Amino acid sequence: MVEPDLIEYLSELGFRDTGPRRAVVAAAIHLGRFTAAEIVEELRGKRIGRATVFRTLDLLTSLGVLDQLHSDPRHAYTVCSPRHHHHLICSSCSKVVEVTAPAVERAVRTMADKAGYQVQGHLLEIIGLCADCQASKPS
Ligand SMILES: [Zn+2]
Ligand SMILES: [Zn+2]
Ligand SMILES: [Zn+2]
Repeated sequence: MVEPDLIEYLSELGFRDTGPRRAVVAAAIHLGRFTAAEIVEELRGKRIGRATVFRTLDLLTSLGVLDQLHSDPRHAYTVCSPRHHHHLICSSCSKVVEVTAPAVERAVRTMADKAGYQVQGHLLEIIGLCADCQASKPS
């Protein structure tokens, strides 16, 4: 999702397009993948407080356009599409690809049903080497 789309998506949802929030969204898209500390640093000098940055990151995360990578020791954020998806993460170059698979979603529900659980959410990250890294690294 590119910046104008993201801004538009937010305003469609009724979020005002305020200057500081827009600046945080623009920085997030510019960085693509970043830690909280990195985006705070990126916005330094724009007179945007940490609290605003963190509130906006939380907002974007709750809207599903920003995901935190759980297997990443830095818990980096990555800009994503708002549909439900999972991540393929390259352990070498850190490339992140969104993937969807209805069969996986069904399997998750089936597993939970069997155990008598009512699902509230699930996390799935697939870690490996992307095609480019496999090609450049003879095993
Ligand atoms: Zn994502
Ligand atoms: Zn890679
Ligand atoms: Zn899923």
